[in-house]
Amino acid sequence: MTGMTDVPAPLLPPTRTLLGPGPSDVSPSVLQALAKPTVGHLDPSFLAAMDEIRRMLRTVMGTRNELTFPMSGTGSSGMETCLVNLIEPGDRVLVGVNGVFGTRMVDVAERCGAEVRAVEGEWGRALSPEAFREAAAGEPFALLCAVHAETSTGVSQQIPPLREVADDLGALLLVDCVTSLAGTPVELDLWGVDAAYSGTQKCLSCPPGLSPISFSARAEERLRARSKKVQSWYLDLTLVASYWGSERVYHHTAPINMLYGLHEALRLVLEEGLEERCARHRQNGRALWAGLEALGLELAVPEAERLPQLTAVRVPDGIDEARVRRDLLEAFGIEIGAGLGPMRGQVWRIGLMGAGSTRKNVTLCLSALSSVLADQGFALRGDPLAAAAGV
Ligand SMILES: *Cc1c(COP(=O)(O)O)cnc(C)c1O
Repeated sequence: MTGMTDVPAPLLPPTRTLLGPGPSDVSPSVLQALAKPTVGHLDPSFLAAMDEIRRMLRTVMGTRNELTFPMSGTGSSGMETCLVNLIEPGDRVLVGVNGVFGTRMVDVAERCGAEVRAVEGEWGRALSPEAFREAAAGEPFALLCAVHAETSTGVSQQIPPLREVADDLGALLLVDCVTSLAGTPVELDLWGVDAAYSGTQKCLSCPPGLSPISFSARAEERLRARSKKVQSWYLDLTLVASYWGSERVYHHTAPINMLYGLHEALRLVLEEGLEERCARHRQNGRALWAGLEALGLELAVPEAERLPQLTAVRVPDGIDEARVRRDLLEAFGIEIGAGLGPMRGQVWRIGLMGAGSTRKNVTLCLSALSSVLADQGFALRGDPLAAAAGV
């Protein structure tokens, strides 16, 4: 017999508790939505679902922007979409860099031919509006970019003060909302944000694969006034918008089932209520912090700049960082994240995102972490569960 191949058994992925920087645990009803029948990308039932997705996305992003829809691809495709559509070669772009994702924006903007100036800040701290002003040195810029929730460090960046800076520089304001959306308040219109992108696998609790984006009227104007075509055919918003708009012109085949998942995830957000959802993230984040500190661990970010959905914890002296993560996974089925860049080996990153931000997960994480740290001889200081319960 020729051509015989060993056919692998069907996949049987383990059920984990995802407490890392993403993906986060997916709600059961979202997983069920993914399994619904695939229809054509111009099927009337699907067109209606697309309109509902756009309507729900606008509410969740705090905007009335017409150009609001999910791009096919993960969060990074949203980043690239915003930059490739707004930048023309030679444009001057100012980017806040205090973590991995600011660094990535610099890389992408340079590939778009921009003249990039980075506003460098300490990893683990927010950037002040003055730091942006100083770096700009009074020169004009086409675009100012900032990361609202730096997942690599757990830092929350205030966006409203950056609007004024952008105005003074004559720049559009672009914000990365990948980890903030549906976990901490995002108000694009109130804050005067011109372009934003997010991702599905953080606080939206949907699998990775889509990136919601939104462009203000001003950003759309900049796009329509380009002197040259957008260099990426796939991410060209003038083309993609013709499918998501009333014309329904075929561009690429929409990832139908992924969009079912996003529809359900957005429904769950609105059913819970945005305020309630953000309050839940805040409450569980604070309980986790209290528990970690009671254990005798140090948090990497000052409280005023800390994200409730992503906590960076310093690895104590004498503890094997990777072994803790391995033990959590093997003994408890819990995934947490490692440090990145300059924080590699120095911190763990614990996510409490979307469906994963629960009291139960706080307790589970603190108990499991106590156990694996004790295995390495770490002297636990206090009672983390009592401290968490006291919040
Ligand atoms: C996860 C993340 C991204 C990139 O998203 P991918 O889905 O990994 O492509 C971008 N920015 C921030 C802040 C993120 O947390």
